[in-house]
Amino acid sequence: MIKTSALAQDCTVVSQHTVAEVWLKNSTQQHSLHANMLLNPGDKIADFSAGEFLPAPSFLTVQVGLNKHITLIPPFLQYVNHSCDPNVFFDTTKMEVVCMKQIQPGEELRFFYPSTEWEMDQPFVCNCGSSNCLQLINGAAHLSDETLAQYRLSDFIKRQVHHRL
Ligand SMILES: [Zn+2]
Repeated sequence: MIKTSALAQDCTVVSQHTVAEVWLKNSTQQHSLHANMLLNPGDKIADFSAGEFLPAPSFLTVQVGLNKHITLIPPFLQYVNHSCDPNVFFDTTKMEVVCMKQIQPGEELRFFYPSTEWEMDQPFVCNCGSSNCLQLINGAAHLSDETLAQYRLSDFIKRQVHHRL
């Protein structure tokens, strides 16, 4: 497959990986991960593993269990930002990031933070721009079953939702 970079204005490619590359937006110094080829639903973006296991979340960690939060190896996966209309999913059972929608070269890869995070360390107001934007993102614990039913969730989050009934 031919690799294509569709770099946006004001951005620099910081690093390149198998199917994606990290961009730095010069004006804001924000990182993001973008496809460097056409990706289709079910495609694997990357396998990941735990750098460190931490008992509490930070803005860098992904939750894999109760009081179990990991830093990501490979580290470039930390640049997958949040969207309320995600195109990738962190499967914390298989330990892989998978594509959920067709993604064009240059398009940003984004996941739904509450799909892995029960209670977030740093809640934020989302400006993802999607029509179903949830506004305040602070973890699955704060979302209704109806809202969560619209998303693919990690096995850990599914268990948490089940147990709160
Ligand atoms: Zn949003």
